[in-house]
Amino acid sequence: MKVSVDLDACVGSGNCEATCPEVFEVRDGKSHVKVATVPADLEDKAQEAVDGCPMGAISAS
Ligand code: SF4
Repeated sequence: MKVSVDLDACVGSGNCEATCPEVFEVRDGKSHVKVATVPADLEDKAQEAVDGCPMGAISAS
């Protein structure tokens, strides 16, 4: 699983980092993905972050 953040859509709410800090880090008001590939044991949390983004700014593949 890979995730990416649309920086134009992200408003820096921090929900993703709160849900899955191993994958997302908010810096300078935007969320950044810290890993190239989400480890299998973090996929559920990462998906929670995708689903919980109020802007729909995170996509997963
Ligand atoms: S939850 Fe969405 S809008 Fe909020 S910081 Fe994360 S990517 Fe940005």
